[in-house]
This record gives sequence, C-alpha cells and structure tokens, in this order.
Amino acid sequence: MANLNQKKFPSDEDFPELSKHNNWMAKVLTPDMYKKYRDVVTPTGFTFDKAIQTGVDNPGHPFIYTVGCVAGDEESYTVFKDFFDVVIDKRHGGYAADAKHKTDLKWDNLVGGDEKADDFDPKYVLSSRVRTGRSIRGLSLPPHCSRAERRAVEKVSTEVLGGLSGEFKGKYYPLSKMTDEEQEQLINDHFLFDKPVSPLLTCSGMARDWPDARGIWHNDNKTFLVWVNEEDHLRVISMQKGGNMRAVFRRFCEGLTNFEEAMKKQGKEFMWNEHLGYVLTCPSNLGTGLRAGVHVKLPKLSQDKRIDDILDKLRLQKRGTGGVDTAAVGGIYDISNADRLGYSEVELVQYVVDGVKLLIQMEKKLEKGEPIESLIPAEKKK
Ligand code: ADP
Ligand code: MG
Repeated sequence: MANLNQKKFPSDEDFPELSKHNNWMAKVLTPDMYKKYRDVVTPTGFTFDKAIQTGVDNPGHPFIYTVGCVAGDEESYTVFKDFFDVVIDKRHGGYAADAKHKTDLKWDNLVGGDEKADDFDPKYVLSSRVRTGRSIRGLSLPPHCSRAERRAVEKVSTEVLGGLSGEFKGKYYPLSKMTDEEQEQLINDHFLFDKPVSPLLTCSGMARDWPDARGIWHNDNKTFLVWVNEEDHLRVISMQKGGNMRAVFRRFCEGLTNFEEAMKKQGKEFMWNEHLGYVLTCPSNLGTGLRAGVHVKLPKLSQDKRIDDILDKLRLQKRGTGGVDTAAVGGIYDISNADRLGYSEVELVQYVVDGVKLLIQMEKKLEKGEPIESLIPAEKKK
C-alpha cells in the first residue's frame, strides 16, 4: 500500500503509467494482476507497489533489458506468484512455475579452465571472478528491511566470517569507518561495490540509510570477498588476476560451503527452495545467483557486428569493466554467463570457460585478418 487511503480508490486509478516502458515488469503487469495484488501484503508487510516501483521509475536502461521489480522478503515470490512466475519465466528464457532448479557446487566437475588446460590466454584475459548472492532466512531483503534487520545481517555474517580459517582468514571493513579515499581505492580495484548512484538501486529502496551496516569482508589476499547489505544481504565473490577460472571457482565453492556450514552452526540458514534455488532480491539472480566473468581484451571482435549474436549463442553477456552501468572502453569487456536459473553453478561456469576460449580464438583470427565463420556456433548452446 502507498498509504492507508489507497483502498478508497479503485485499483485501475492506481495503475502505473507504463506506456513508454521497456522492462519485464512493464511487459508482464496487467490491470487484473494489479487489482489482485495492490492491497495484498506479505507476512513482513511488503507491498506490490514497492515490488514494482523501481521498474515504474526506470523505464529502461542503456545497456541491459532490466527486470523492473524486486522482492522484499522470501515470501514475495509466493505471495505475488502470478506476477513473479511470469517475470521469472520471461527473464530466464522459459522457466515453468513448477520447474525444479539444480545446485552443483562441486568445483571438480568443471572441465578445464585452468592454466594447464590453456583455455584463457593471459594476454587476453586480465582477471577472473565468480560471484553469487545469499540471503539470510527470516530477515527482510534490502528493499524492505528495517535498520535493525540490516544490522542483524551485518552482525551475524561478519561474526561467522570472522571464524573462517586458512586461506579464508580475513577481516570486516564497515563502510562507515572507511575514509573516502580508501573506499574509492577499493572500488577502482574492482573489489567493492560502487556507491548506490544507480537509480535501479535507489528506486527499489535498497540504498536507504546508506552507508549504515554496509561493508566488505575479505580474506588477507583479497581473493575471497563478501559484500554486506548492498543489493543482497550478502554477495560472495572469488576473484584474482589472470585467467585461472578453475582456481577462482574452487575457492568460490569451498569458501561458500565453509561459510554456509558455519552459519548453520549459529542456527542460521540461507533462503533456498527447490523451485527458485537461492532466493535473492532481484528475480534475475534467482537460482544460482552466479555470475562468472572475465575482463577480456577483444578489440577486434567488439567492433564486429556479429558479437551480440555470438554471445547469445554461447549463453554469455557483456558489460563494461566498471560494472553493470558502464560501457566497454578500449575493447575490454566483462564477459559472463547470461543464465542464473535452471542450470547448476558448474554448468554456468563451464559456459564461460568454453565460450571465452572460443572468443579468444576468434579475436586471434581477426587479428590475422582471417574469417571467423567456422568458429561461430550454428545454434544456441543447450
Ligand atoms: P555484479 O553486480 O555482478 O557483482 P557489477 O557489474 O555490478 O557486478 O560489477 C561490480 C564490480 O566488480 C565492478 O567494480 C566490476 O569492475 C568488478 N568486476 C566484475 N567482473 C570482474 C572481473 N572479471 N575482474 C575484475 N573485476 C570485476
Ligand atoms: Mg552490481
């Protein structure tokens, strides 16, 4: 509910103006759905209007086709099911309301991806990264959480992370205790989330009270990092320079598993169910929440008109290297898996390993002035 007067008006007088919109929410939302849900709240009091506000306020985005809605708690996806099921189905390229998601965090199932396999030429791949999100069951998600809930996320997670050992021994750095310079340095080094300037974030409500209870935990080597209270309760990241995606994925799986087990000992668990996998704030991240990507130099291929089609066939997406709101500079792209839901973690990283290897082969051919047709897959990968 916008306010308690809202019920005095029929829902069609409240229906948002969406005629110029280009996002999944605007495509999916019908007056009937709105009527059904406008006056419904989830158990924690999250409303349908709050779920769709970011998509109403942001008709489109220059680089990506946005989702345009968020969840405020774990139950949002079931309470507003008729709406979210369709958004999820469309955004994830076909995902039935009764489909079952699969999880596979056994990094050893990945084929190749390391220096021995020679998949990623380090002249082209500058850095490799795998990230996911996790939400702590029983606490509202960032668009809707109270200050106390947000602080509880910070307290629980940093206490648990503080108990990790070996290569995962690390420390928590709250944003409130960082100088502007320290924060800027971490952002420029690609370790920390950007300040919440993107209207996609601010309009959803997830930047409220910034920087209260936000921060970054990382191990001593800065190769295993956890963002606290940005878009999700937790974002777990493994990264390093160069092209050894296998090493990055191993550390990701092991660190994440250690973290989850330590959480369980504290009586906490992550939001997860068979249908949606890991439950996160943005419907685009449901399932694995996994984005495995490389910063890769493709100056020739990036000039080629076929690049978008090639990426689509390889089930990959591109971004600028400064994050989702940036454009590519100097032919350097962030190339990552396009899918999140309905595929396991291992399968998604495999698409990146196989696909980026092929992109580098194409780039090398283009450098020599040779055709690349024979390397372009005829059909989209299954
Ligand atoms: P996400 O939200 O998926 O984590 P963003 O596109 O918002 O990713 O980027 C977040 C930060 O992570 C940015 O600073 C970006 O430069 C950095 N980043 C993403 N991929 C890589 C990579 N392969 N190597 C180094 N930094 C990366
Ligand atoms: Mg981001």
